[in-house]
Amino acid sequence: MTEQWTTDHKVTLLAQVESRPAAADSQGQRWMERRHTGLVLAACNCGWTTGWVPKDQMPSTAELLGRHGVPMP
Ligand SMILES: [Zn+2]
Repeated sequence: MTEQWTTDHKVTLLAQVESRPAAADSQGQRWMERRHTGLVLAACNCGWTTGWVPKDQMPSTAELLGRHGVPMP
C-alpha cells in the first residue's frame, strides 16, 4: 500500500522589519537603518497562520505546541 503524503505541522516565527536610508556618514556613505515594527507572524507548514499581529497577540507557546508542534527557532 502506498503511504499518503501529509503536511506536517512545523511552525515558523517571523518578526517584521522596516528600513529606511540613513543620512550620509562622514564618507558620504548611506546605510540602511532597520528596526522591528513590533508585528510578528507564525505560519505552519499545514497552512495555518496568524498573519501579522502585535507581539502581545501572538498565541501562547502552549497553544502553538498543542496545535502545531514545536516552533522552529
Ligand atoms: Zn499546523
